[in-house]
Amino acid sequence: MIATITDKEAFVLEIHHRLSDVYGRDIKYFHDLDPLSELMSALLSHRTTNHNSGQAFRNLKELFGSWEAVRDAPTDEVQAAIKPCTWPEQKAPRIQQVLRLITEKCGGLSLEFLTQMDVADARRWLEELPGVGPKSSAAVISFSNMRGKALPVDSHHFRVATRLGIIDAKIGEAKAHHVLENMLPPDFTAQEMYDHHQVMMRHGQKVCFHYKPDCRRCVLLDVCPTGQALVNKATTDTP
Ligand code: SF4
Repeated sequence: MIATITDKEAFVLEIHHRLSDVYGRDIKYFHDLDPLSELMSALLSHRTTNHNSGQAFRNLKELFGSWEAVRDAPTDEVQAAIKPCTWPEQKAPRIQQVLRLITEKCGGLSLEFLTQMDVADARRWLEELPGVGPKSSAAVISFSNMRGKALPVDSHHFRVATRLGIIDAKIGEAKAHHVLENMLPPDFTAQEMYDHHQVMMRHGQKVCFHYKPDCRRCVLLDVCPTGQALVNKATTDTP
């Protein structure tokens, strides 16, 4: 029997509190990068493990020393430096293109001006850059030292949200950013929004696995239609 919490915002808040009881609140930010460095990190991280994208990021910093030098370097050298990433042959020219565009638009390589903008305007500005979607813009706002209020949605977060019935999987990860963010209380602080991203992601990594979610160990089982169906099926299938 699935417990019902009819109002979707109330449901999401209940999920947030239950997962925060497990994974914590006021979660420490894992980066303290300036907004431009965070954007570079986000571009490297697409479909790449944190370990590998982190290595690629460090390689760029150690080999070139500045984003200006990365922008102006031969593309094959940038490509070699970011080899730990997936698709370095696509990411190297894209990173240089974005660095050149920012230089043209801003007269230099800094995104510090974003801190003076409204978050929605800052995200719009970022998403006009090639290859920058809602996930990357949210990462810049939330993870960088801007510490702004935006909800990044990674594949773990998205999977947990769809299994819980919060959103339809057909919506896709890009659109899910705004839908999921709008379901959170308007008075959530930037830290609470970051916590929400973190607890949903951690739950996907530790319990709600892509293959074989560990529903019997899940604190959301009584409110999760997918978990209930899986557990009932396992019970029925048991001889
Ligand atoms: S009950 Fe199962 S499917 Fe639902 S959130 Fe928990 S682990 Fe995922």
